[in-house]
Amino acid sequence: MDIPRIFNITESAHRIHNPITAEKLATLGAALRLEPGARVLDLGSGSGEMLCTWARDYGITGTGIDLSRLFTEQAKRRAEELGVARHVTFIHGDAAGYVANEKADVAACVGATWIAGGVAGTIALLARSLRPGGIILIGEPYWRQLPPTEAVAKGCLANAIADFLMLPELLASFGRLGYDVVEMMLADPDGWDRYEAAKWLTMRRWLAANPGDEFAKEVRAQLTAEPERYATYTREYLGWGGFALMPRDGGSSA
Ligand code: SAH
Repeated sequence: MDIPRIFNITESAHRIHNPITAEKLATLGAALRLEPGARVLDLGSGSGEMLCTWARDYGITGTGIDLSRLFTEQAKRRAEELGVARHVTFIHGDAAGYVANEKADVAACVGATWIAGGVAGTIALLARSLRPGGIILIGEPYWRQLPPTEAVAKGCLANAIADFLMLPELLASFGRLGYDVVEMMLADPDGWDRYEAAKWLTMRRWLAANPGDEFAKEVRAQLTAEPERYATYTREYLGWGGFALMPRDGGSSA
């Protein structure tokens, strides 16, 4: 049970598998006004940077679930490194359908909303693990400019223009699902560069170390094509944000 190998290769050196930077991740944690001891659930926790740094900086406790064996091992190592291994737990597994035994103060899925079939399904899944008054955190791309053609959307590695919304529509869609947007942290092109360009050096070094690997041809093709594709499409058209949500019908307990 694992994610496609190509991601375990291209993102093996990433601490954050999204266009959000370490600084913005810290600012987001502060913006959510996390209390010491707050329980954070993270579906698709990657290499664990959010939970580990928030445990170190804000005293949260956390549980992360991720389908990548490699990323989950990296998350456990990161927790040791930051001295928070007693406060965070990383589980290697499928987060689809995962509901926590103990309700979370923050229930997050940052850049993995396919886990429950899209934004709406993921919010519904996270809501089942959320305590009254808690916050749902969703990380999701949006169009900074609407692609003029479906081919441009595909150039951004989306299946279709309809995969993503413009920012105002994305924010409105949370409202239609019955949620207030209570905070947000948007990525910028520098953050996108950290996420995307960091893959290139990783690929280059992996190719040098694994010339005979059955994946070498695919990695070589990606490394050759990616800088230009990224600059032409993703960097121009795609935005990304972390969105904090609270249910509107949360009542007095919220
Ligand atoms: N939230 C992390 C990782 C985002 S990348 C961060 O911001 O750094 C998306 C993550 O989803 C990857 O780590 C991938 O391994 C994980 N993933 C993909 N499908 C999954 C599934 N079904 N269950 C759990 N994790 C999954």
